[in-house]
Formats: sequence, C-alpha cells, structure tokens
Amino acid sequence: MSFCKTNDTIKEGDTVIIYFSFNQLQPIKVKRGSNHHTKYGSFKHADLIGKKYGSRIQCTQGTVIVLQGSPEMWTISLPHRTQIIYTPNISVITMQLDLKPGSIVIESGTGSASLSHALIRTIFPTGHLHTFEFHLQRSETARKEFKEHDVSDYVTVYHRDVCSDGFGKEDLADAVFLDLPSPWKAIESAKTAIKREGGRICSFSPCIEQVQKTSLELARLGFVNIFTVESLRRVLSIKKYDLPDFDFNMDWLKYKGNGQENENQNDQIDKNEEKPVPKKIKKNFNESDDSDDEVDGSTDATYTAKPINIQPGHTGFLTFATLLHKDFHKV
Ligand code: SAM
Repeated sequence: MSFCKTNDTIKEGDTVIIYFSFNQLQPIKVKRGSNHHTKYGSFKHADLIGKKYGSRIQCTQGTVIVLQGSPEMWTISLPHRTQIIYTPNISVITMQLDLKPGSIVIESGTGSASLSHALIRTIFPTGHLHTFEFHLQRSETARKEFKEHDVSDYVTVYHRDVCSDGFGKEDLADAVFLDLPSPWKAIESAKTAIKREGGRICSFSPCIEQVQKTSLELARLGFVNIFTVESLRRVLSIKKYDLPDFDFNMDWLKYKGNGQENENQNDQIDKNEEKPVPKKIKKNFNESDDSDDEVDGSTDATYTAKPINIQPGHTGFLTFATLLHKDFHKV
C-alpha cells in the first residue's frame, strides 16, 4: 500500500495506523506471524489481513481501530527523530510554494520526514522530491521508511551538509524548502538549484532572529516578494441562536410589540383589525402555535463563532520568497 494512494483492505506489508484514541495512534507494519501488544491486550497481525480499513479489531482486553497510512496520519504518529513540521504549517507551505502534481522540490533537512511525506503526496505521480540530511542515520531511516510506504520512486534522499557543500543541483527545482538552524547559509545554493524560469522558496525558523537573517540574505540574492507568516491554531466557541426574521412587508405602526401595546399607535389602529406580528417573533408570543410556518428556528438558526482566550502555541515562522526568471536579475 502506498501513502499516495488509497486502498479498501489491509494487505501484508502495509503500514497501518492503530487508533487507540484521538491523541494515541501507533503505526505498525503488518507481518503475518507477528503479534502486537497494546494496552488493550494483544492481537495477531494475521487478523488484520483482508479486513477493511476502519475496522474495529478485537484484542484480548478491548478493541482498537485500524486506519490507513497517509501523510497526515504519519505526521501525528511517526517516531520522532527531530522536531517536525505539522499539518497546519504543511498546508501553508504546500499552497504558498504552489506545489502540484509534477513539481520538482528540494528539501533540507529531512529530519523525521514528516513534511517529506506530504510533499511527495502533493507532487505525485510525475514530480520528484530531493531531500537532503547531514545526519547519516536520519537519512538512512527516511530512505527505509519511504520504501516501506511505497513512495521511494518519487523521492531521492541525499546524505549531505547543504550549508557547507550546497545542493549540487542547477536549474532543477520549482521550489526549495529549508528547515535548518542556519538557513541563510543554504540560500545561494538553493538559488542555483531553482529552475531558470524562477521558482519559490520557503524557510521555517522557530525564532525571529533567524527570520531576519534569512530575509536579508534572500533580498541580497535578488529574491522578491519576501514575507513571513505564522500559522496559529485559534479555538472558537460555536453557539447557535434562533434570531427573529425581519419581515420587510410588515406595517410596523401596527406591530404588537412584546405584548405591551403602544398607546399612541393603538389609537390609530382599528380595534377589530388583526394586529400583525413578524413571523419569528410570533413563535415567542405563542408557543402553542403549531402551524407549518418555519418558526422553530431549525432551518434559520444562526451560528456565531467567538474566539476563546487561550495562549496560542508557537511552532515557528514561515518565510516565503520568489525568484524571478534568472535572466531578469544578475545578482
Ligand atoms: N522538516 C523535518 C520534518 O518535518 O520532519 C524536520 C527537520 S529537523 C527540524 C532539521 C534537520 O536538519 C535535522 O535532522 C538536522 O540533522 C538537519 N540539518 C541541520 N543542518 C543541516 C545541514 N547543514 N545540512 C543538512 N541537514 C541539516
């Protein structure tokens, strides 16, 4: 099973995600003959084979759910070797780098390959990811995981220090992504690696001092449209209100109000004439009204969203820039 495609049933060799709860997920590789031990007891891998993804699996002391591996599921369940980039930032990166099937992307460092999996799925099946990591074991583990997740045709892992040795690529990439402690040291080489007709670059940094250095270097090298964004989670409290409809045709001089009639208005109204009431408000005054009018609020309910005051967590800043056609500037 590939992390780039979907499948209905579980096969031997698939990397599946065992779901215990929203915050507790564990990836395992399905291997006939193996047992898996969980806090709900154990189950046989063989019991998974042929089952539909999403099935509940009986363990000796409870049940778990087996989910399909995908870049998003991998990001929240992968074994951490480093800090990783999470889906809220990944979505901004993918959109701002204008990535699509067929894009050629350069990335460094690979780290735990959280972002790499998402990049591969976005550029699949005709694009390619070149990912650079100077920590030997991390680069080897990433290569092994890409193979296990059946995406290795779309990615090449390089063991290399990009700050001292550069990317060693020329006029190749549509986009470059940097998640490095000193990204400004890799920008000159990134510029060489971007396609002749230009491209996009993004650098992730946890602190603003790194952002400043990176931005200055981007400007020095002729990148334009340099900007930094921070993607923060904002929790909203959603409430449902039944608001009265405003009846534009109503004669407000004859409005019955909230039951307390206006003496002056009533002087002008024929006592025998039925007093109109706006549709929604009518319900408030006459709860026993069982007419077919949609006055119960179920169809016209209004939702409001109010931010809850909690401290938003900081992950980092994303600095983006554009390199125009290389013929346009000679910096
Ligand atoms: N973006 C990755 C992810 O989502 O899983 C995490 C990247 S991690 C924070 C940074 C990685 O950059 C580390 O694995 C580190 O070894 C690597 N690195 C740092 N300096 C490097 C350099 N000069 N060349 C190549 N890799 C480097």
